[in-house]
Amino acid sequence: MIGNTIRQRLIILTLLVLLLALAGSLFIADRSFSVTLRQSTYTQLANNATYLKQELERDGYVIDPDRFDSYARATALRITIIGKNGVVLYDSDHEEATMDNHLYRQEVQEALDAGSATSERRSATQRLPVLYHAIRVDDVPEIAVLRLSTTLNQLQSYQQTYQRLFFGGIAVLIVLVSIATAFSITMLTRPLAKIKEGASRYAEGDLMARITIDSPKEMAELAATMQEMALRLRSTIGEVESGRQQVQTILEHMNEGILLADRSLVIKVANQAAVTFLFGHLPEGSPAIEGSALVRLISSTEITGACEKTLADGKPREVTIAHHGHLFGETAQVVGREHARTLKLLAVPVRSGSDIDGIVLTVNDITELRRLEQMRKDFVANVSHELKTPITAIAGFAQTLHDGAKEQPQELERFLSIILRQATNMQRIVEDLLLLSSLEQQQTAPAKTWNQVEQLLDETVESCRFRAEQKRSTIAAAIENPNQLELLANGPLIVQALSNLVVNAITYSDEGSTVHLKTTVDERTVHFHVIDTGQGIPKESQQRIFERFYRVDAARSRSQGGTGLGLSIVKHIVQVHGGTVKVASELGKGSTFTISLPRSGSEMNSLQGKSEALFSTGRKEGRSLRAASRVKP
Ligand code: ADP
Repeated sequence: MIGNTIRQRLIILTLLVLLLALAGSLFIADRSFSVTLRQSTYTQLANNATYLKQELERDGYVIDPDRFDSYARATALRITIIGKNGVVLYDSDHEEATMDNHLYRQEVQEALDAGSATSERRSATQRLPVLYHAIRVDDVPEIAVLRLSTTLNQLQSYQQTYQRLFFGGIAVLIVLVSIATAFSITMLTRPLAKIKEGASRYAEGDLMARITIDSPKEMAELAATMQEMALRLRSTIGEVESGRQQVQTILEHMNEGILLADRSLVIKVANQAAVTFLFGHLPEGSPAIEGSALVRLISSTEITGACEKTLADGKPREVTIAHHGHLFGETAQVVGREHARTLKLLAVPVRSGSDIDGIVLTVNDITELRRLEQMRKDFVANVSHELKTPITAIAGFAQTLHDGAKEQPQELERFLSIILRQATNMQRIVEDLLLLSSLEQQQTAPAKTWNQVEQLLDETVESCRFRAEQKRSTIAAAIENPNQLELLANGPLIVQALSNLVVNAITYSDEGSTVHLKTTVDERTVHFHVIDTGQGIPKESQQRIFERFYRVDAARSRSQGGTGLGLSIVKHIVQVHGGTVKVASELGKGSTFTISLPRSGSEMNSLQGKSEALFSTGRKEGRSLRAASRVKP
């Protein structure tokens, strides 16, 4: 299309201006020429009219047609003499008899009134202006007016000449102006093309592109401004991008699930935690989470309902729900049973002014919290239950003594021994609880030293000797490689754990049995095996015996001075050393407990902070506490 580019528009505009200027000059020249020509012609007519009037007067107002004819030819003027009644008496150009009455010609009437007059009419044949000058003749009755006229022929020839010059000039000017315009347009559009190319590169994302323009000054400034703008844009984009990265990193490393959805509940952002909590591990090729509608991905009407209500009224809503795989709510609890996770979701509106643009859904996995809460409740209930029996017994027997039984020496002796036994039971429970709590709560690194394994075994045997003697049992300690086998560990704690196992082995075996305490070693690990040939542990209880207060046979355990906390303590001690404890047992045949600990204790470094206080608070005396106190009073 013509006129689309700057070049075309400038050319058209320039030519238009050129044409207008030339047409304007043509008009002005024409006007000024014709005005000047008229003035000089009127002057010429007036002078000749005056002269002829004088000639007439000198000739006694006798009209000599020959003389007037030659005068008219010589001056190229038309001479007309009009009588009183308007009859043409003489005309140099026409036959008088054929001419109509001239009394009411404009110039004749005005000359009769004013003495002289001029007028202009267009000639009917040549379409050229004809100028008339008439003067009144007063001295004779026959002649009324002498009129001279001429046609402005020069005007026509002038116009022809001017038009010729005009069109010739215009052709030359168009060529010259076109060349000049093309040159200046090229000068103008070349930097523009460079600017356009630079802008295209910026649009493609190359914000470092340079636009080099030296002139014209305006273009150079425009290019510099664009470059500066691109650099600013680059730094702003960089800042935005790094901010986005930071937010992304924070979101991805949050334990809390965060999901942002728009007004139609289409997911805009979801961090990894939210995806895992709500949708589980999606199989390959699953549709992208972001961009999908929440209701299509989550079947729980509780969650989607809460989101929809929050969108509607702008109030935050909290939902706690069980989740297992893709199943939510009660179904999840039934299908997933103990594997169902408990999720706490909070839907909060995202506002922009008074409108609600969407929602942010935060998802917290509170399974562990719930489990810990339950554990705490169970623990309090268990501790209360464990302490209730001895306290009730102590209170009851003390009351009986107070009521008079103390007077009977036999009863006094029996009741006091019961009170002592129950008090010892309570003491053991409290001491075991304190030990457990120390193991759990210490935040500093456990003190570790290189221990001779042989010495650890000796100390264990020593601490269990009393209990073994009580049951006439034998402890057979053996080391696979006794030569300087060393272990970087917390010696007193290891002795405590081994003692607990050995005491259990003695307790839950028949009188006179042998308990083996064996140590084997491989490249990186030391294994302690405590083997008995006692009653064994039922299969279904083997996983649970490490729980606090869990006993296979509570009555038997209590009667043997057990607290139900011994194996729990073992498990904790092993854990703070980065080791493992296992049990293998068969009912009626016996049990083998195996503690495996890293030899160098390097793994312990990662487990710092668990139990140093145990030793810094002089726990040494307490290491054989459980073994020593598990004695029937
Ligand atoms: P307790 O003080 O009751 O012995 P533990 O935590 O030490 O508590 O042990 C928990 C339970 O595991 C015991 O009550 C007992 O039923 C069972 N148990 C532990 N060690 C043995 C073993 N060597 N043989 C058989 N049963 C055992």
